[in-house]
Amino acid sequence: MSGETKRRFPPETRTLQLIAVVILFASSIASLVWTVVVFVDREARRNSAGRILSEASNRMIQAGSAELTRMIPRWPAEVADEHWLIINRRLAELTDSILRDYPGVEGGYFSEYGKKFVGFAFPTEPLPVAEKNSKRRIPARSGPPEREFDLIEIRVNAAIRKNKVLFGVESVPPSTVAVRTAPVYYEGAIVGAAWTMMRIEDPLFVRTSTRGYLLASGFALAGIVLSLVMTIGLARTVRKQAVERNRLQTELRRNERLAALGKLLAGVAHEVRNPLAGIRSTAQLWQRGIGPDSESAGDLIAEVDRLEAIVSRLLQFSRAETSELAPGDLNAVVAEAARLAQGPAELEGVNVEVELEPGLPAAAMAPQALIQVFRNLTTNALQVSPPGSSIRLTTKVEPGGRRLLASVRDQGPGLSPDVLRHLFEPFFTTKSEGTGLGLAIAREIALAHRGDLKAENRTDSRGASFTLVLPVVAAETPAEKKVDAVFT
Ligand code: ADP
Repeated sequence: MSGETKRRFPPETRTLQLIAVVILFASSIASLVWTVVVFVDREARRNSAGRILSEASNRMIQAGSAELTRMIPRWPAEVADEHWLIINRRLAELTDSILRDYPGVEGGYFSEYGKKFVGFAFPTEPLPVAEKNSKRRIPARSGPPEREFDLIEIRVNAAIRKNKVLFGVESVPPSTVAVRTAPVYYEGAIVGAAWTMMRIEDPLFVRTSTRGYLLASGFALAGIVLSLVMTIGLARTVRKQAVERNRLQTELRRNERLAALGKLLAGVAHEVRNPLAGIRSTAQLWQRGIGPDSESAGDLIAEVDRLEAIVSRLLQFSRAETSELAPGDLNAVVAEAARLAQGPAELEGVNVEVELEPGLPAAAMAPQALIQVFRNLTTNALQVSPPGSSIRLTTKVEPGGRRLLASVRDQGPGLSPDVLRHLFEPFFTTKSEGTGLGLAIAREIALAHRGDLKAENRTDSRGASFTLVLPVVAAETPAEKKVDAVFT
């Protein structure tokens, strides 16, 4: 499974994924901001165009109505085509004169001619001329040819329905137009209309004016959502990988320790065989009728004691293995170890000094197993301490605050280079009665605590110094979970 995970999410791919997510997120945010800014700008321009157009439109209507009222009574009741031509020409001149005051505004009048409304306009800037056969072309049906306005780009349709003028405006991208239209009356009847118009440049124009903005912001939002989903996915993957890595590390540690344990067991087998061979040969002698005498019985008991010592030491290993770790107080453990060492120390005429750093952070521990470490250390220290000397137990936080250090120092002969080399090896002993397991077990317990046990010669005086190193419990561990070491 781990191999599969590695294949699916190698770190390079993860980095690329992360870069892709960041780019997607940034571009989505940018396009959303751009869309909003453009939309707001467009709305502002529409509003200002609306104001300008209202004013221009009002002037056009007033001027147009006044002109029609002035001109129409000059002709008979039936206004002839030529009269309309004259009226339209005049209206066109009016448009020209009024719209000169409004840069950017185009416009014109529709007036009744042959039952149709026909538009004239004077663009403020030249418009492209329509191709001859263009379907969009709506040629003006009347008016002076030089004033004829080709409505190729903007088509304004008008019609009278139930005494109202209806307008329809079509526009061609990329321009959208703001249009004002209003009827022009003569004697209470609508006889035409004025229209004014402004083009608004609009990058997102797509026929229905806001659809482009909705689409653009929709895409941008989808991009943002997608990048968030991808981020969550990526975070999950990273977390899974971290869990997997931890699992592998734990497995590796266990394998290493199992290998060490295998070595230890081989040593145990070897160590146990010697006393067993002794016991066997004594028993064989007794079988042949030689003995039992008190000397051979004494040898037998010594061999059994040795086996007993080895077995009880080995039991300490199982303690280190099986204990659950919980946040606890290292000071409490060291104080208890000092208390336990007090009695034997007094017998040897040795002082036990304790110096504990107050307010030590919690460490994950199995207190009983740690007590065993300090018992092994103080027992060794006592064995080499001359009367009148001191054993010193101290605790402190390592500079940096990530690990705790607890030391046991004596004033004995110290550690020779040869002893230092083999100190922690199981069954290494320089004592006739020793098992050589005390330090090996102490170290094993330290490793089981994700810590270590180190040995060196003191620099401040004669003697050896053993230091237990324990990692501080991570800060997020709730304080109430911290327990004082429990001793049974
Ligand atoms: P044991 O005490 O049964 O010999 P240990 O593993 O506890 O087994 O110690 C291994 C060896 O390390 C001891 O035999 C001794 O030579 C050396 N040693 C341990 N502690 C000290 C000490 N405080 N000062 C000098 N030598 C020590």
